Order: sequence, then structure tokens, then C-alpha cells
Amino acid sequence: MNLYLVGEREIMGLAKHIDFDVVIVGGGAIGAVLALELDRLNYSVAIVELREPLFSSTNPERVVALNDGSRCYLEALGLWKEIEAFGLGDIRHIVVTEPGNRGRFDLHADDLQSADNEHALGHVVEMGHLLEPMYRALQDSSVELIAPACIEAFEVQQDQVSIQIRRDDELSTITAALLVGADGTYSQIRAMAGIGVFGWDYNRFGLVASVTTELGHQETAHECFRSSGPLAFLPLADGRFSIVWAATPAEATQLLAMDDESFIYALQKAAGASTMSKLGAVTGISKRASFPLELTIAKSFAQSRLALLGNAAHTIHPVAGQGMNLGFRDVETLIEVLARAKAQQGDASVDPGQSILMQAYAEKRRGDVMAVAGFTESMSHIFGSSVPGMKWLRGMGLDNLSSVPALADLLLQQASGLAQFKQFKRPEVPHA
Ligand SMILES: Cc1cc2nc3c(=O)[nH]c(=O)nc-3n(C[C@H](O)[C@H](O)[C@H](O)COP(=O)(O)OP(=O)(O)OC[C@H]3O[C@@H](n4cnc5c(N)ncnc54)[C@H](O)[C@@H]3O)c2cc1C
Repeated sequence: MNLYLVGEREIMGLAKHIDFDVVIVGGGAIGAVLALELDRLNYSVAIVELREPLFSSTNPERVVALNDGSRCYLEALGLWKEIEAFGLGDIRHIVVTEPGNRGRFDLHADDLQSADNEHALGHVVEMGHLLEPMYRALQDSSVELIAPACIEAFEVQQDQVSIQIRRDDELSTITAALLVGADGTYSQIRAMAGIGVFGWDYNRFGLVASVTTELGHQETAHECFRSSGPLAFLPLADGRFSIVWAATPAEATQLLAMDDESFIYALQKAAGASTMSKLGAVTGISKRASFPLELTIAKSFAQSRLALLGNAAHTIHPVAGQGMNLGFRDVETLIEVLARAKAQQGDASVDPGQSILMQAYAEKRRGDVMAVAGFTESMSHIFGSSVPGMKWLRGMGLDNLSSVPALADLLLQQASGLAQFKQFKRPEVPHA
């Protein structure tokens, strides 16, 4: 009735009781891709999303750097061509420096010892351009989108979860064999399920903006590690950079209040002479925005009939640009677990919420999430440390990383996400 539905199919009446195999709360990129994958495994799926989907550009552009592993995944899903058609910033070269210190480390896509070496290390995509093809594919699927709406309450029973949905002032009840929280960092589903988190507030804000520079980007991303936090320059499709600048609350307040000229001066100073010599002077700047930075990892990624994916399960520091990539690997893992159960049980209607499958999903994900979170944490601690001699060591370390080929290749595999992508097997279950 009053529901916004994909494909404008008017099927649901709010007063009706509707059964789904899976209800996903949160229609961000992770919820949307999961819905597409489950639909292809012939599960009936609904997405409950707080907002009506919007794909238009924001100012500043909200972008994510996807590694090549995520590109391979979205290609396998048949989404990449459409995403690429919007235009991408390719990252073929990453330069890591510490302003005011010696040492520099370079990663080149050409050095990737893999069959995929014609590809970039990563791709910078606007969030709307990532979501729009996903929502177009949802329109051609059987997935029901219920938006704008939210969950009022849910109750986990032995064979199903009973879910109360609020849309405007109307309440309705639907059921699912599995309830998924893909509702972001401040997940309502995680909180309602009583799943605690560990982590901390970094006491930093991520300041984002898009900048034009004299020399353009030449498909290079720059990571400048400062003691108060990293400053990243990510190449955009139109030759500009998107910046993510981790700043203390006081610094962020000042930077947001500055006029453009003063901001550009502060930015160039923070990036350091070595980086600015590659970029040329900053000649233009978009509006600025900021996000609080925090580490939040759910103590449990799944319970009986409930799973958390994406930022609802883990929100990490954007220093290494890995949050979305981790979320796609959550989806790949859950789908792999379900597809394997279907293949083993020779049964098209495997209960997707059963405890054993939820446990398998949670166990498989924890190692990868902790490894990436640990790596990002150690980066921020190493570069944030003012222990005597540490600055010298960092400079030496950066210079010498490139001269250890095995280590450089390992970092390349990790940065490109190809090491992790190769671990997944696409399900061979016949698609609908
Ligand atoms: C400054 C910054 C830079 C970043 N850069 C990168 C990068 O370069 N590379 C990278 O891989 N990652 C990056 N990330 C992380 C990345 O953006 C996230 O990991 C990713 O967006 C998580 O996707 P998600 O679908 O899990 O959550 P979200 O994108 O947060 O989507 C959650 C969805 O749930 C909906 N929702 C929320 N609450 C409810 C509710 N109660 N009921 C119903 N729906 C609800 C929301 O409206 C939203 O649509 C960055 C993050 C930040 C802050």
C-alpha cells in the first residue's frame, strides 16, 4: 500500500503479515549488494531503508576508494560496467610520505605480480555512482524495497524473526528466517539485539573536500602521514583530487571555518613540500564536510537468525580506505556459506538463519576484520608516535620497504585487495 517498492509493484499492505527469507535493514551499498546476491540464490528478500534512495552528486563529492578485489567482485556481479561508465579515478600508483621527514614509499600497479596487472590498484568512485547501478539491478529483481521506513521492534523466535516496521505512523509486521543489520556505524539492529561493541573514538574528524591542483593527479594517490593523523589525496575521474584529512576537533573546527584561501594554504603546508612538488599548487576547492572518526567493532557478528554486515559489524579508521572493501567481503562470505549449505544439502530451500550457518559466517569474518583493523591501527600509532628516534626509524622504514621485493609485493596484494578476493569462490548455484 503506502510502501515505496522497487519497480513500483504495489504488493504489500501494511496491515498484512508477510513472510520473507531474509529482511535486510539498511540499503547502503552493502545491504543492496547482499540483497542482489540473495535474490540470485532464490531467497525472498526485503530491504528496509530509512531514507528514499538518492544518487545525485553531493558537494563535496562523497567518494570511496575501492581496491581491485572489490572491482573484480562488482564485475562478477555484472555491476562494474555501469559504475565505470559514470567515470572513475584510477589509482595506478600510491605514494606514502611523512611531511617534514625523509623517506618515501611507492606502490605501482605495474609491479603487481598477478595476472590482473593490467588493472589499477584501486578506483575512486562517487557513492551515488556506486549505488545507482545497484538499485537499477534491484529493480529487475524480486527484492522488495520498503522505504522510507524503520524497525520499531523485533523478536527472535525458534524458526523466524518477527519484525515490526514503522512507515509514517503505520505499523506492520513481517517475518524473516534471517534478519540482517546493514544499517551502518550506529546500527539500530546491533543495539536492539544487545550486541556490544569495542573500540574507541579517535578524537579526530575526517575532513573531506575536492581540490584542483596545477599538475593534476596522473593516476596517483598520496598518503601523507602526519602525527595528528593522515591526509590522503585520492584521484577523481575529472582530474581533481578528493581529500580525506584526519584532524583534531580543534583543528577541524578551524579548518571548516576558514575562507578558501586560508584553507588552501593550510592544506599545502600539511601535505608538505615533497607531495606539493608532485601536485603543483592547489587552485580550487569545493565545499568542505567532516565526519567523526571512530573504531567500532561488534563483539559478535552474528547470532541465531541475525547477522551484521558492513559498518554495522565494523567501522574502522579511513586511513587505509578499507571499510567498504571489508563490507563487500562480508557479503561474499555470507553468500559463500549459504551457497555451500545449499550445495551440500541438495536443497533449494536451506534455512538461511540457522545458528550453524551464522556461526560459520561470524568465524570466517573475524580474522580478516581484525587483521585490517589492526593494520590501520598500527599505521596511525606508528605515525602518531613522538617516541625519540621514532621519526628517524619511520623515514628509514619507508625508504627500505621498496627494497624488500617480497614485502613490497605483499603490500601490493593487500592494497589492491586481490589477495583476499582470490580466497572467495563464486557460488555455482543456478541463478534465478
Ligand atoms: C571520511 C570517510 C572516508 C571513507 N573512505 C573510504 C574509502 O576510501 N574506501 C573504503 O572502502 N571505505 C571508505 N570509507 C568507509 C565506507 O564509507 C563504509 O565502510 C561504507 O559506506 C559502509 O557501507 P554500509 O552499507 O555498511 O553502511 P552505510 O553506507 O552507512 O549505509 C547504511 C544504510 O543504512 C541506512 N540506515 C541507517 N540506520 C537505519 C535504520 N535504523 N533503519 C533503516 N535503515 C537505516 C542508512 O540510511 C544507509 O543507507 C570511508 C568512510 C569515511 C567516513
